[in-house]
Amino acid sequence: MKLRQSPFFENALKQFLDVAEKINLDPNIAERLKSPERTLIVNVPVRMDNDVVNVFSGFRVQYNDALGPSKGGIRYHPAVTLGDTAALAMLMTWKNALVGLPLGGAKGALCVDPTRLSRSELQRATRRFTMELISMIGPDKDIPAPDLGVNEQVMAWMMDTYSQQVGAASPGVVTGKPIALGGSLYRHEATGRGVVFCIEQAAEKIGMTLDENTTFAIQGFGNVGSMAAKALAKLGCRFISVTTSRGGVYNSKGLKLDDLYRCYKEHGSFKCYKDGEQITNKELLALECDILVLAAQAGQITIDNAEHVKCKILAEGANGPVTMDADPVIIDRGIFLLPDILANAGGVIASYFEWVQDIQRLFWDAEEIERRLKKIMHRSFEQTVNLSKTQKVSMRTAALMRGIGKVAQAMLLRGLYP
Ligand code: GLU
Repeated sequence: MKLRQSPFFENALKQFLDVAEKINLDPNIAERLKSPERTLIVNVPVRMDNDVVNVFSGFRVQYNDALGPSKGGIRYHPAVTLGDTAALAMLMTWKNALVGLPLGGAKGALCVDPTRLSRSELQRATRRFTMELISMIGPDKDIPAPDLGVNEQVMAWMMDTYSQQVGAASPGVVTGKPIALGGSLYRHEATGRGVVFCIEQAAEKIGMTLDENTTFAIQGFGNVGSMAAKALAKLGCRFISVTTSRGGVYNSKGLKLDDLYRCYKEHGSFKCYKDGEQITNKELLALECDILVLAAQAGQITIDNAEHVKCKILAEGANGPVTMDADPVIIDRGIFLLPDILANAGGVIASYFEWVQDIQRLFWDAEEIERRLKKIMHRSFEQTVNLSKTQKVSMRTAALMRGIGKVAQAMLLRGLYP
């Protein structure tokens, strides 16, 4: 019931029900897919540096595991709810199925602001949270990864805590680990690079050349936004604006990526970047540009601001940045929308590679991983475009149709126990 209190979950559920109708989904399968298979709510006590004990709520939602062990990130954010986590777990399920991974979908969250914790508080919170999840996770059961507010170090502590409990080093329990601990080369770049693989294909479809006259703007400068910016800049495109929750910068002649990195690393904002004007998030979303990448939070483009969006290609690097009611407005404006479950799938695809390498104890070089990632992204993009053309539906609907269809097929084949 609580899931229904999250607008994000409501949105994801409505989207699912619409697509279920379009693909004539078996009603028994639809009924099962309306809610997650398994949900755990924990309250995580953490001794702070001042000796006071704080308690943070945490969740892990395993949405569906018909296709394989559950897979999906963990986010640390003070305002995250169980319903939001379930919505994200649902999207993970469709995403993993869409790109053909032998994995189910899950998501986890801890209601904490990681920027307000010291390193040792963050470590204690992570270790206790992992302990609370211990019966649920494992390399054959459910494999967490980083999401918003979580980094490689957090994954290293999770891996260590789990390993201590099972009595053996178990690198395959999480992905997005540091490379020295069995993390994969290219995992760090993969989500942003995957977004740009999709943009390259979309550009080709609409006859847009990618050169210094092609402008792009990015919302969010975390792992996904910064890596997408780097990849687009490498293709020769002109980076004209970037924002985070702390504001941003704009320069129609182009921003200097190295200076932006330095400034953001040192100050956590772009205030020290001098060669541009200040710009707000609202202004960035309405900016005249060729490519707009949304790599921050959910619910950024809504029915209220969709008609101001002026880009030609809109890529969802984050999960759920365009709301369902805004979708038709974006499409009517002739914008090529790359939906999240396709555009940002590079992260979980590289996670899948990391998991496979950990289990095999055999590691690939970065070129091999990039080649395999590109192949899967290209195939998934083509299949989605083709379905969208033959069925005369949007890219998002086509992606969901494929993802949900594959999960349903696996569920029908497995049948219902008992
Ligand atoms: N958090 C990422 C996502 O939303 C990656 C998940 C993973 O690697 O398991 O796709």
